[in-house]
Amino acid sequence: MKLGIVGLPNVGKSTLFNAITKAGAEAANYPFCTIEPNVGVVTVPDERLRVLHEMYNSKKTVYTTIEFYDIAGLVKGASKGEGLGNKFLGHIREVAAIIHVVRCFDDPNVVHVDGKIDPLSDIETINMELILSDMEVIERRIQKTQKNLKGDKSLQVELDTLMKVKDTVEKGLSARTLQLSDEEMEIVRSMDLLSFKPIIYAANVSEEEAAAEIDNEYVKKVREFAATEGSDVVVLCAKLEAEIAELEEEEKTAFFEDLGISESGLDKLIKASYHLLDLISFLTAGPQEVRAWTIRKGTKAPQAAGKIHTDFERGFIRAETIAYDELIQCGGNLATAKEKGLVRSEGKDYVVKDGDVILFRFNV
Ligand code: GDP
Repeated sequence: MKLGIVGLPNVGKSTLFNAITKAGAEAANYPFCTIEPNVGVVTVPDERLRVLHEMYNSKKTVYTTIEFYDIAGLVKGASKGEGLGNKFLGHIREVAAIIHVVRCFDDPNVVHVDGKIDPLSDIETINMELILSDMEVIERRIQKTQKNLKGDKSLQVELDTLMKVKDTVEKGLSARTLQLSDEEMEIVRSMDLLSFKPIIYAANVSEEEAAAEIDNEYVKKVREFAATEGSDVVVLCAKLEAEIAELEEEEKTAFFEDLGISESGLDKLIKASYHLLDLISFLTAGPQEVRAWTIRKGTKAPQAAGKIHTDFERGFIRAETIAYDELIQCGGNLATAKEKGLVRSEGKDYVVKDGDVILFRFNV
């Protein structure tokens, strides 16, 4: 899963991205990821894996991962090709979701591009570039649909939908604010609009405010705006995240206690991203390895098995499944769980749930 980090200059993007790259240093353990300089791979925190690891005394623990792309350079005028505008918009098209870093800290030493701290204006500037780029896409599609409509009257629904999207973006609103039926949703999705991508606003506050966990005036404004779109807000301090990323695992706990926080802003961001994209994890556990696997909500057992290996999907027979909580209630003992009838044998139509601990049976 890929997420793109965007934001105006000097809001703390690089600081946050550096924290991500450092925190993800162990990504070297993930040979399937080729790591480029603008990509940071981080593990998705999952307390359940730690517990299972202890229970099974496993040799290895493998967390699932998220990739963050540093898409610096998005500035006013990008949609008109200013700066390296179009190239950056192209990068945004490739990501599943956007993390928009918004400056919510006062610091006279850090210059703001527009001379004043105004998170709403910053958000509007970036969103507007995405909207302007979308307008061209929508316009082209409308022309094409109008042309084809002459020979195919069934395209009227598509045209109506496109007009609805056009109206919205022309008002300066992101496409993600639209209320759509399932049919309309399919049409809009097929256009791959930038302003339709799910977004998290990462409010970058000062160290003190991040620790206090109280919203400052800037953050309140960001939250109000995000609510109008149904978007998420994660409050963090990029500078603090960079410091946390330098710490060893054991030092972190003490550091968090000192600050009075329970988890890092980066972990909050990772979890929020995971939820934003409707992702869940199922788990596999044994003495060799405990591991989390990412799937979309609604994925059925054979396709979930396919995440592990295509042979598992092709030869799928059954999924022996137990909910994580139930396994823990049985002290992690599968035999006890079986006696109690908690281990279910599920077939090909079973929809996998978050925290299912699964053993797949398959033919090779
Ligand atoms: P970018 O242009 O968005 O990538 O911004 P940078 O990450 O380079 O940050 C710009 C400046 O803001 C740097 O001098 C950072 O040290 C500073 N900065 C970043 N985050 C914070 C923060 O949370 N608080 C304060 N006071 N300064 C920050």
